[in-house]
Amino acid sequence: MTEHFDALVIGAGYAGAVTARELAERGGKKVLVLERRDHIGGNAYDRPDAAGILIHQYGPHIFHTSDKRVFDYLSRFTAWRDYQHRVVAKVGDGYLPVPFNLDALHMAFPAEKADRLERKLLERYGEGARVTILALREDPDPELAEVADYVYENVFVHYTMKQWGQTPEEIDPATTARVPVLLSRDDRYFQDPFQGMPLEGYTPLFARMLDHPNITVELGVDARDRVALAEGRISLDGSEFTGPVIYTGQADELFGFQFGALPYRTLDFGFETLDMDQFQPRATVNYTVSEDYTRITEYKLLTGQVLPGKTTIMKEWSRAYTGVEGETPYYAIISPENNALYEKYKALAEGYPQLRLLGRLAEYKYYNMDAIAGRALALSDELLTK
Ligand code: FAD
Ligand code: UDP
Repeated sequence: MTEHFDALVIGAGYAGAVTARELAERGGKKVLVLERRDHIGGNAYDRPDAAGILIHQYGPHIFHTSDKRVFDYLSRFTAWRDYQHRVVAKVGDGYLPVPFNLDALHMAFPAEKADRLERKLLERYGEGARVTILALREDPDPELAEVADYVYENVFVHYTMKQWGQTPEEIDPATTARVPVLLSRDDRYFQDPFQGMPLEGYTPLFARMLDHPNITVELGVDARDRVALAEGRISLDGSEFTGPVIYTGQADELFGFQFGALPYRTLDFGFETLDMDQFQPRATVNYTVSEDYTRITEYKLLTGQVLPGKTTIMKEWSRAYTGVEGETPYYAIISPENNALYEKYKALAEGYPQLRLLGRLAEYKYYNMDAIAGRALALSDELLTK
């Protein structure tokens, strides 16, 4: 006889793992987690490579949040390495801080002019302001327009073209707003109060979160082979399933792409292990002007791992997701047209009252890890007070 489960979770990334733990622990429910990959953690998965260096298989993940509930919650499952992410852009022979800040301004312009520009910027926007590149480009002051042009050319336009195949004006404005021009000398990539790297890595964090007597995780299982949706009812292994179903995969795939595929960007990662202690000055260097890749991440500098004489770096190339086997849809392409297509799938999901779409894929949004963990906690609150 198959085991009885009260709740079904599809996907073992942040959305799935946090919800599973909450329903299992706080709600006392028996939870089945189905994960298509052969590992937990979703895109935050990390593992040691052949040289023994801890790498993030699906791109560099730095935890940062201003949501204390999320930070406290995840802290139950990991200790943290105190780490503040700092990024530089390779421009010519030098490196510029990203976000472009007041120090970058002084690197980019001669001293006297930089002093004047700094005063103007502070007068106009205020000390510590976060000004988006699109807003700065609208500034009527001709000298500030020069700053805007400089930042646009050296930080945004080429990187954005590589990442999205579109200009900063063409993509969702919230995307470039993630990396504003920063009117301070803060050179950190994120200004959130809680930042860090899980001390032993993300995968152990997930392993602890999913380690609960009420949780069963099955890896290497595509839910589409076990779960069927028809006429408002959901079945698991051929029998009707009446408990909550939390789906964290692609919404279009769940419904057989019947309205067409949702557009995504995918990434190709190039890992190289080099015989040297350190390759670059910061954990991430953005190639904002040259090269066809967007950035290089050096993992030891993120994790603080000590391993003399060897280091692993990773380059990222972005391109359109085509949906062929082996490709991962990493970034939803937010636009009114794509959002409208997503809404059609969401409406179909609403025909299944027990079904919830949760997560970066299932909600077709550009969410960070903390946002997903927060949404999973909120959904759990809702399901457990029903
Ligand atoms: P996912 O991690 O994608 O998990 C969904 C899981 O569902 C996957 O494991 C998938 O295999 C599984 N699944 C899908 N369909 C099925 C199915 N049919 N059956 C079974 N399983 C299925 N966030 C930050 O906060 N900081 C960062 O520095 C950061 N860096 C990032 C860098 C890159 C390159 C990318 C792509 C993202 C980054 N993020 C970062 C975002 C972060 O990865 C996401 O916020 C987070 O992983 C979302 O969790 P999720 O559970 O929604 O989705
Ligand atoms: N961006 C840019 N140059 C940079 C960094 C970011 O043009 O040096 C733009 C680019 O459009 C990018 C967006 O800002 O897609 C968001 O950057 P972020 O680093 O947040 O992207 P992620 O880490 O999620 O890929």
